[in-house]
Amino acid sequence: MRIAIIGAGISGLSTAFYLQQARPDLELLIFDANPEPGGTMHTVERDGFRFEAGGNGFLTSKPDGLDLVKEAGAEHLLLPSSDLARRRFIFTDRLHRLPETPPAFLSSRLLSLPQKMRVAAEVFIPGKRDESDETLQDFGYRRVGKAFTDVFLDAMTAGIYATTPDRVSVNAAFPLVVRLEREHGGLFRGMIARRKRQAGPGGILMSFKGGVGRFIEHLQKTLTADWRLDAPVHGIRTDGAGYRVLSSAGEDRVDQVVVSATAPAGARMLQDLDAELAARLSAIDYSPIAVVGFGYRHLDHPLEGFGLLTTTAARLPILGVLWDSSIFPDRAPAGGKSLRVMLGGQRNPDLVQQDEDGLVETAREGVRLTMGVTSDPDVVFIKRWENGIPNYPVGHLRAMEELFKHAARYPGLHLNCNAYRGIAMNDCIHNSRVLAETISRP
Ligand SMILES: Cc1cc2nc3c(=O)[nH]c(=O)nc-3n(C[C@H](O)[C@H](O)[C@H](O)COP(=O)(O)OP(=O)(O)OC[C@H]3O[C@@H](n4cnc5c(N)ncnc54)[C@H](O)[C@@H]3O)c2cc1C
Repeated sequence: MRIAIIGAGISGLSTAFYLQQARPDLELLIFDANPEPGGTMHTVERDGFRFEAGGNGFLTSKPDGLDLVKEAGAEHLLLPSSDLARRRFIFTDRLHRLPETPPAFLSSRLLSLPQKMRVAAEVFIPGKRDESDETLQDFGYRRVGKAFTDVFLDAMTAGIYATTPDRVSVNAAFPLVVRLEREHGGLFRGMIARRKRQAGPGGILMSFKGGVGRFIEHLQKTLTADWRLDAPVHGIRTDGAGYRVLSSAGEDRVDQVVVSATAPAGARMLQDLDAELAARLSAIDYSPIAVVGFGYRHLDHPLEGFGLLTTTAARLPILGVLWDSSIFPDRAPAGGKSLRVMLGGQRNPDLVQQDEDGLVETAREGVRLTMGVTSDPDVVFIKRWENGIPNYPVGHLRAMEELFKHAARYPGLHLNCNAYRGIAMNDCIHNSRVLAETISRP
């Protein structure tokens, strides 16, 4: 059987990996529009500094990323984040250390005493009775109060989804907190119950020696496939028994197709096959995001920690700053330091459209306002993602149910990327394993 995988990001690559594990007899064709696989997982080396174009790793609190690394024989590449990475900061009107423990929360100046008491009152708030979807903001205001939501949940949402709590569905984007409420009646009750059940440490951020790109290269080498790189797919047709994939490399006849490209790209390639399916894919909106990396050969700021996130109320031009060389020391040459500034998202989508000078100026302004750093960087890296992170608004879960039900009209056509059922690398890998099991089942 011949299977085309369209889009060689982590979703496409891990689908290919698990398909090959289950059925070595399958003939795989892997397409990507770029000359290199990896999608948003891409590392760029510049004058001794290493910058990630997208994510810098995955959390070990879920097993999927680590399992794939082990199964692919890439354990020697693993690079755990340094202990410093536990120190995280939030910028409101100034920089605050993010409290890690209840006593640190109580002494933190991020909230006033009455606001902290409102958070503690969460244990008395009854659980929601119905299962209707709601925004993270509604959920937060209901359970932990406005102040906690506008500071902590707002910064966290910018950091993970590049969006704001009023635009994201708590059910789709944070299913664990919804489960805590449903199963235990509240967040604190749920967290205590879970801690009793599962002793042991939580997850840590894990990356790869030399950057995430090294893992992608490794994964690529494990795959026996017909590679069609630098070959954007522009159409998928059916001939009844199978599919024809039309790309800049020509036309390929296959038995099944996995579309792992972004949802808008999927919509374009499926437009002629089924306009309604394409419309459902086009309806998935993305937050644009720009990543601006700075490398400094000498920097006075200690960068002691993971980095900082800003709140919407702070009205800053940036979402946050990752202190890369403190999290993973191999990101900068000896004596040097590096950081990456994230800007845009749903708070300021237009900022991403600026030219490169504008992006650098905005990032420098953000670093100056939040960290007081005014030094000229020695090395600059810029990556703009027009379709950066898919949005999961209220109604997303229902829309995905309908999308997949509609796509099921086409046996052998599969949709799989971060736009549907989880955006983190762990989620993409999990969904890919499940899909590969479904396809390879006799
Ligand atoms: C700035 C940023 C930071 C992030 N940080 C983290 C993080 O720290 N941890 C984490 O877990 N997640 C992070 N994420 C999210 C995570 O990286 C992604 O969800 C995951 O890597 C997406 O993988 P994917 O394969 O689904 O999609 P993508 O990586 O987007 O891959 C899609 C692929 O499809 C290809 N393609 C598009 N159109 C076509 C076409 N017409 N024909 C052929 N191929 C096509 C693209 O070239 C691309 O390679 C981040 C994302 C961004 C943007």
